[in-house]
Amino acid sequence: MKDLPEESKDHQLTVALRIRPLNEAESDEGASVVAQRVDDQMVVLMDPCEDTENHLRANRSREKTYMFDVAFDQQAQQEEVYVATTKNLIEGVIAGYNATVFAYGPTGAGKTYTMLGVDSEPGIYVRTLNDLFKDIEACKDEMDCSVYMSYLEIYNEMIRDLLNPSSGYLDLREDAKGEIRIAGITEFSTSCAKEIMALLTKGNKQRTQEPTAANKTSSRSHAILQVTVKQRSRVKNINEEVRMGKLFMVDLAGTERASQTQNRGMRMKEGAHINRSLLALANCINALSERGGRGAQFVNYRDSKLTRLLKDALGGNSRTVMIAHISPASTNFEESRNTLMYADKAKNIKTKVKRNLFNVSYHLAQYTNIIAELRKEIERL
Ligand code: ADP
Ligand code: MG
Repeated sequence: MKDLPEESKDHQLTVALRIRPLNEAESDEGASVVAQRVDDQMVVLMDPCEDTENHLRANRSREKTYMFDVAFDQQAQQEEVYVATTKNLIEGVIAGYNATVFAYGPTGAGKTYTMLGVDSEPGIYVRTLNDLFKDIEACKDEMDCSVYMSYLEIYNEMIRDLLNPSSGYLDLREDAKGEIRIAGITEFSTSCAKEIMALLTKGNKQRTQEPTAANKTSSRSHAILQVTVKQRSRVKNINEEVRMGKLFMVDLAGTERASQTQNRGMRMKEGAHINRSLLALANCINALSERGGRGAQFVNYRDSKLTRLLKDALGGNSRTVMIAHISPASTNFEESRNTLMYADKAKNIKTKVKRNLFNVSYHLAQYTNIIAELRKEIERL
C-alpha cells in the first residue's frame, strides 16, 4: 500500500457519505428524491418545502451542496464502498497502527447494510477480515501473526458479548497503560470467511431490539466488531518487536434524536429516550472539531461506554473513517440534513497515529541473565 502512515503523524478523519436507494414504503407514500450524488465527492440536498418566499425571506436557497472525501449513491456496490473507505486501513493494522470505521446515520438509512451486509452482498466486516487474512497469509514466512475478533453491543450503557450473550453484562477496565479493555469478552480466532459471516449474522440477531418496534432491529444499540492483530517476526533476535494493531468496526445506533440535539447546539441531557452513548459521541465530535480541528481544551470521553471505548478512534491514536448514511426521500429530509451537517462537522477532526510497538529486548535480556545465573548454580552443584 502506498500511503502507509509514518511513525507518528496527524490524520484527518475521513468522511464518506452513502445514499441508499429509495425504498418501497417511501415510494408508496409519494416521496420524491431530494438527496443526490453530484460527483464522487459532492452531494446535493433539496429542501422539499415549495415555499420560495419563505426561502428568500430566510435568505437561503432550496439546494445545499456538501463535500466529503467520497460520496456514494444507490448504484454503489458493497465492494466499491469497502475499497474506498476501509481496504487501505488493513496494511496499517498489520503494521501495528490502530484504525476505526464507523457507520453513522438515522435508523433505516443503511448502516447495517454497509457494515454487515447480506449473504449475497456481504459488507465491510467480512470483506475486511478476508483481506486481512490474505495479507497475513502472504507474509506468514516472515511473520507470526495472531488475530482475535470480538463482537459486542452497547445498549443502555450496558455491554453484551454478541458471540456469547449468556455471559451477561461486561465491564470496561482501564489497564496500567491507560488502555481500555472489556473484561471477560470472547476473543474468537478463525480465518474462514464463511464461518465469520455466520458468526456475525448470528451475533447480529442477538442485538437488542426496541420494544416499541419489534421488527425494527437494533435501532438503539451500537454493535462493535473489534479485531486485534498481534505480530512478531519469525526471525528471532534480541531487538525483537511485537506489533499490535487494533481495528474497530462500529455500526452505531440510529442517530435521529442525537443529531437534532447536536445540531441545535444543546448539551447532552439525560432522559429515558435519549441514547447516552450517542450524545456523548456527538459532544466529543463537537468538542474535537472546535478551534479549526485542533479540538477543545477538554473533551469528555468519560461520559459514556461508547466514547470510552472509542477514545483513541476519535481523538487519539487511530486512522478513522466515518461513513454517514442517508435516505434519498423527501419524507426524511430533516434527518438527512442533520446527518449531512453533522458529518460535515466531523471532517474537521484530526487524530494522531503512531505505531504500537513493544520492544521485547528488555525482557529477553532479563531472561538471559536469569538463565546465566541458573547455569552457574547448576555448575556449582
Ligand atoms: P440501519 O442499519 O441504518 O437502520 P439498514 O442497513 O437496516 O439500516 O437498512 C434498512 C433497509 O434498507 C434494509 O432492508 C437494507 O437491506 C436496505 N438497504 C440499505 N442500504 C441499502 C443499499 N445501499 N442497497 C440496497 N438496500 C439497502
Ligand atoms: Mg442497523
